[in-house]
Amino acid sequence: MDNVFEELKALGFRNLDKIEIFASDVKQKTTDELQKKQGIALADILYDKTYICPICDKVFTSKAIRSGKNRLMSVDTDLKPKYDTVNPSLYECIVCPKCGYAALSKIFSSVSPKQMGWIKEQICSQYKERNYPEVLTNKDAVERYKLALLNAMAKKVKDGEKAYLCLKIAWLYRELEDSDQEKTFLKYALTGFLNAYNHERFPIFELDELTVAYIIADLYRRFEEYDKALQWVGYVILEKSVSLRLKTRGLHLKSLIREEKMSKIETQNKDK
Ligand SMILES: [Zn+2]
Repeated sequence: MDNVFEELKALGFRNLDKIEIFASDVKQKTTDELQKKQGIALADILYDKTYICPICDKVFTSKAIRSGKNRLMSVDTDLKPKYDTVNPSLYECIVCPKCGYAALSKIFSSVSPKQMGWIKEQICSQYKERNYPEVLTNKDAVERYKLALLNAMAKKVKDGEKAYLCLKIAWLYRELEDSDQEKTFLKYALTGFLNAYNHERFPIFELDELTVAYIIADLYRRFEEYDKALQWVGYVILEKSVSLRLKTRGLHLKSLIREEKMSKIETQNKDK
């Protein structure tokens, strides 16, 4: 190994060639401590919530997140949040372990008698019992969201609700760095939100009309459809009722779309 302290020989220092700047076991210790710390934080944040399945009456618990202890660190342009300890999306889908009925926690118990029949027919008849670990991974969550999407289709819910689930699945794939699957589900989300925009009432869960328009703009940007992206973001920015927060995001998105559009044109010109 090179002696990184070669220069110091002239200053009178000897035997520096075998010295280690960092003790070799320090890194391992730090990782262990970090995991321990995260383990404690996770136990602090997660708690058991009891649910009664509206389809089969099974009583079961599922982990939920205690709000306030999980800090928001950043937000992507399509509003995907990043938290410091745990991604709340992982625990938003509730799955009945007995019959396979799955839905977002906030609408888990709202099923009409007709929908109940469709779920029994299309989901419960095929579902094989599956137990998930208490601490869910992104992969577990993808599976649960897809089951919720299948249930939503069986329930014949509106397109906005399905688009919302697809957006969440795309975000999980972003965490997993699977950009092909991410794109597939972003495309579904875009289609669903566009359908919802013309035919449905807002909000779609926590997303109000302008927030959905803003997301549509960013999804068009991600698919390099810059003119459509500019139209949608322009609508958000100019709408009188837009909140200052969303307007600021909109202005930032608009300059990002323009930048990307320009660089695409430049690349195309170079290729000619
Ligand atoms: Zn059930």
